[in-house]
Amino acid sequence: MDVDLVITNAKGLTMDPARPRAQAVAAKAGRIVALGSTAEIAALAGPGTRVIDAGGRSLLPGFVESHMHLLLGGSELMQLHIHGLRGQEKLAAAVAKYRAGHPDLPLIMAQGAEWGLLGRPMTRQELDKICPDLPIALWAPDHHTVWANTIALEKAGILHGAETQPGHIIVMAEDGTATGELREFGAYERVIALGGAGRLHLSIATGEEPVPEPTPEERAADMAVFAAGLAHCAAHGITTIVNMDGNRYQLSLLDEMRRTGQLTARVKIPFHFKPHMDIQALDRAEAMHRDYNDDWLSSGFVKMFIDGVLDSHTALMVDDYPNSPGDRGMPLFELDRYSAICTEIDRRRLQIAVHSIGDGAVRATLDGYEAALKANGPWDSRHRVEHVEIINRADIPRFAALGVTASVQPSHPPGVMDFPAEPTLTDHIGKDRWRDAYVWKTLVDAGARIAFASDWPVTDVNVMRSLQAALTRVPYDGAADERLGFMDTLFAYTAGGAWAAHMEGLVGTLAPGMAADFVLIDGDIETIPADQLGKTGIALTIAGGQITHQGAGFAA
Ligand SMILES: [Zn+2]
Repeated sequence: MDVDLVITNAKGLTMDPARPRAQAVAAKAGRIVALGSTAEIAALAGPGTRVIDAGGRSLLPGFVESHMHLLLGGSELMQLHIHGLRGQEKLAAAVAKYRAGHPDLPLIMAQGAEWGLLGRPMTRQELDKICPDLPIALWAPDHHTVWANTIALEKAGILHGAETQPGHIIVMAEDGTATGELREFGAYERVIALGGAGRLHLSIATGEEPVPEPTPEERAADMAVFAAGLAHCAAHGITTIVNMDGNRYQLSLLDEMRRTGQLTARVKIPFHFKPHMDIQALDRAEAMHRDYNDDWLSSGFVKMFIDGVLDSHTALMVDDYPNSPGDRGMPLFELDRYSAICTEIDRRRLQIAVHSIGDGAVRATLDGYEAALKANGPWDSRHRVEHVEIINRADIPRFAALGVTASVQPSHPPGVMDFPAEPTLTDHIGKDRWRDAYVWKTLVDAGARIAFASDWPVTDVNVMRSLQAALTRVPYDGAADERLGFMDTLFAYTAGGAWAAHMEGLVGTLAPGMAADFVLIDGDIETIPADQLGKTGIALTIAGGQITHQGAGFAA
């Protein structure tokens, strides 16, 4: 057999129950053709075959990142990062240093601003002390709140408030001016637009297409952002990306990149349905699905947000937030309409993925899926609930009953990776609900499908750090151990994600006929202590038989 690529001396974990382990693999024309022992597979190599000696490293299917925002992630690589930073002086120093290195920016965007950053409420006046003369926007790590200084609010035309969509809040002070705290995209989109990146945010802000049509120069600039994001993902072993915002413009950019060999991961882009849209907008979702539906670029699903996040109390809860009588957040869609929309998407045989953080949001989403099932009958829908941070116990069995995937992020529980434990745990979840928070194993034990992801740039896209977080998570006081086992954890980042994306016939498993998408871990993942996984690098990433990343210390 004339094969293109052979990898030998690997500790292959295939995620295929029929053959869980293999020492070597051969690929041809972007597909796996054989698995076996090093001797068996080496015998397939001819003079034109690229042979890679894995040197005993772990070989896995390329990681499937089941929930991320590629264009936002790519654009944020160039922004100021202040994760974990505390205190006014440190913030001022970080801003000054960044500003000196980027003198021409119309807006400083800083990522990773924690709620406790200043130890007191963050206001426009506080930010004016640090940066009085140039617009600055600080994003909370969850990307659902922005704090802006006075000049930013002025230039955006929202210093004295403005109309926003329900659930999107420009927080106002008693004197009738904005405090600087902006909750949800509809509140801060005008500030973000000051940076000139409005085009890049359309897919998450409105789900609409850029008007007028971007020029070739603008397209090239946006493709460079995608390229930076894709390179960053490849360096972390990712070969399949399920994006969680999108529009046709993004697909057209990625399609153009494919033609010049720059598409280094398979990307699935949703149609983003927003509350302002008429139901007929789903015609555009169907058209995206029809026009982009191959092994590298696809659509076929509709993303929605039903709520916000816990920290700003925009997450929809069944009961009141702790110490906040009457406060349960609010749904971003009127609930009867939401169920009707779910039913219509499902009737068009499109998959649905809904950001659902609070237990009220999870319930509303499951209600929507149940209504769709009742109206349209069963089909291979695989609808998904994104995040599932808090759940009402009564809703746990509904995941299995409806065939729904819990799409969750090991990096998200407060205190586990980069998100601080407080004030979220005490003030926004409340100790008596800790047992209902981030209940991955409870869901799996109840028959739910599960997929892991980072939600990059909400948290670090680094899969190895995320695996460490998943495997070392300590139960909250009074809660069960919600970790999955080692192999189940790897499965959720590979075959589990592939199934949730309707891509299990192509990626997520090492077996003949599957895509030649591989990640070679820089070590033996089964013997590295779990608390060291985050420091472990990626030796090699291969997508469609082509090397997309090679670690510094690895000679392929
Ligand atoms: Zn997201």
